[in-house]
Parts: sequence; C-alpha cells; structure tokens
Amino acid sequence: MNKKTLPSLDLKRGYARIREEIDQAVRDVLESQYFIMGPEVSGLEAEVARYLEVERAIGCASGSDALLLALKALGVGPGDEVITTPYSFFATVSCITRLGATPIFVDVDPESYNVMPQAVMERVTDRTKAFIPVHLFGQMARLEALIGPLDSRGIAVVEDCAQAFGSWRSVDGAPVRAGTFGILGCYSFFPTKNLGAYGDGGMVVSRDNGLADRIARLRVHGAGATYYHEEVGLNSRLDAIQAAVLRVKLRHLDEWNQERRLVAERYRTLFAEKGLLDVVSPPLEDVGNYHIYHQYVPRVSGDRDGLVKHLAAEGITARVYYPVPLHLQRCFLFLGYAPGDFPVSERLSRETIALPIFPELTMEEQEWVVSSVASFYGRD
Ligand SMILES: *Cc1c(COP(=O)(O)O)cnc(C)c1O
Repeated sequence: MNKKTLPSLDLKRGYARIREEIDQAVRDVLESQYFIMGPEVSGLEAEVARYLEVERAIGCASGSDALLLALKALGVGPGDEVITTPYSFFATVSCITRLGATPIFVDVDPESYNVMPQAVMERVTDRTKAFIPVHLFGQMARLEALIGPLDSRGIAVVEDCAQAFGSWRSVDGAPVRAGTFGILGCYSFFPTKNLGAYGDGGMVVSRDNGLADRIARLRVHGAGATYYHEEVGLNSRLDAIQAAVLRVKLRHLDEWNQERRLVAERYRTLFAEKGLLDVVSPPLEDVGNYHIYHQYVPRVSGDRDGLVKHLAAEGITARVYYPVPLHLQRCFLFLGYAPGDFPVSERLSRETIALPIFPELTMEEQEWVVSSVASFYGRD
C-alpha cells in the first residue's frame, strides 16, 4: 500500500474542479492558432482591470518581469535608490539591481511579516526613486499613511502583489485592493500562486495611462508600431493559453480565496485546541485586512528545520519561505550588509514554516498536520 502523503499544494485537485472549463478554453486557443498576445490576452487584461477597479492591466511574461517593467517605465537606473524589504522572494530585489539601482532595505514587522511603515520615511534620500512594498503571503502591507508623504517627495509606490491577488485592506471604511494603493501593482501568475497559470505569466496594473502605455511598449522590445522602436525594451509577452486559463480561474478566485481563509481559520482553531499556542504562533491578520492566505506561515519554537524533517518523515511537505533574507544572499554581498542588520527578517528566516494550504485541503488532512506538529513537540 502506498504511504499517505500530503503535498504543500495539490494543483491536481484544483484542476479537477474546473477541468471542463479549462479544457474547452485551451482547445479554443488551439483552434484559433493565435498563441502570443491577441484577444485572450486583451480579454484577460480587461477582466483584471475591472476586477481590481484600475484603469489598465498589461500582461507580461512573469511576475519578475512585471517588477522589472514597472521600474523601467519609471526610469529607475544607476544612482537611484529603491526602498524594499529583505524578507521576500528574490525577484523583489533583483529587479532593482538589474537596472543598476541600489536597494535600500527596511525591516519587517514580526507579526504581519510586512514592511514596518514608520521606518520607510527614515530611509528616504534625494536619490530615492521608488518604494516596493510586498504583500507577503497574501496579506496587504499597511500603506495608507505612507502614500501621501511618498507622493509629495515624488517617490513611486510599486506594489509587489505576486502573492496577493484578491487581497484587500479596508481604509476609512472602503476596501482598497492589492495593487491599487500605489501607481503600479505587479502580479505573478506562476502556477503555485493563488491565481496561477499553467506556465509563466505576470501583469502590471496601473491607474496612470502614460505609465501603462510605456509598459505596454517596453514588453514588446520598446516598439510603438511594430518594427518602430522608441526605446530598448524586453521580450515579455503573455501567451494566449495562459490568458485563457487565467480567465477561467479568475471567475472562481473569490470562492477559492474564501476557502483559503477557512483553512487558515481551522489551523488556528486546531493549534489552540491541541494546546500548541506556546510553540506555534499562527500568522496574524492585521485589523482591516482580507488576508487571502497564499501561504499559511506560523512562527515555531525550537528546531524549525527539525520540524520540517519530522513532517517530511510523516509524509507531509512543509516549506521554508525564505531561509536566507535577501540582504544576506551571496549575490548581494556587494551591498555590504552583515548578519544583524535586519534582525526581524533574519529571525523570521529561522522561525517560520509554511504548512500545506490550498482551497481543497480537508479538515482531516489539517488534523493530521496539526497532530504531526504536536508529536514533534512531544504533545501527543
Ligand atoms: C513569485 C514572486 C515573484 C516573481 O514572480 P515570477 O512570476 O515567479 O517571476 C515576485 N515577488 C514575489 C513576492 C513572489 O512571490
């Protein structure tokens, strides 16, 4: 008999729920033989713009490219500084260094894992061109107090929304969606994201038509009209099969995000019922936030890596996001940072664990995860 196992994310269950719709949408693209950009991509762009209530949405090849295109459109280059956090995925920072600009780090909050807003203005200089807040693990950063002061200094806010499609935050009683606080919002459709394609994909959204036009040009080698190049851009187009898949998935996304929230709520209840809250700190949902739990990431006491191994031996895949904070990555050593510079990010890199989460995760599976955590701490 096969040993029972639980992946950190089971995409096959997600596909099974929408198989007919997806298969039909992909077949339609095959019949059309129109593979790059075209009506599926512009259709998706219009639907995303409507969903997020923004002027424009521009599809591109990945979330990493979305960030790069956003900074390029803002004219970020050598000599410029861009503020962001070191507790994130690599692409949040590589988009800055790839353009020859300098990342300036601000540490994160130990509860929300998002940027500490009050620390951002302290790092602003005459060279600061942009600020990239990350809505980590599906929860929006607290940006409302920052937008005004940054705006008045001419500093652009480029939101990294790669993990937060459909996440929102209530500001003065009104919901603000991820990607619409700042002038530009960047999304990833990597298959494991909560809105994931069946390959690579990304999108930049904006309420600024001038910036959106420039991004639309930069993604096709900087060409305004075909073969007439205004500037040197990238080849960063979205393909029609990905767009067709995403259009199907977007129709179901709110339901899946709601299910993710339910899964998160059940984890919290189970950890409390098992008396584990002294060793497991469930992720905090900031007041006013609609956290979509792209990941479920508690902090744990003791030997975190030992816990990951213990779960693996039981058949459960847990992951670590992120084991090395970005200021300590070998490729960024030239920036001159050292251990101790961003203590919260460094602590979270040692103490957090990402437990399995996806909309179809069952109560029985969650009970299994929680009792396996309990047995690691000798609580069974
Ligand atoms: C996934 C991710 C990206 C990059 O997206 P890709 O589509 O993989 O290039 C950027 N930032 C964050 C926070 C991410 O999680």
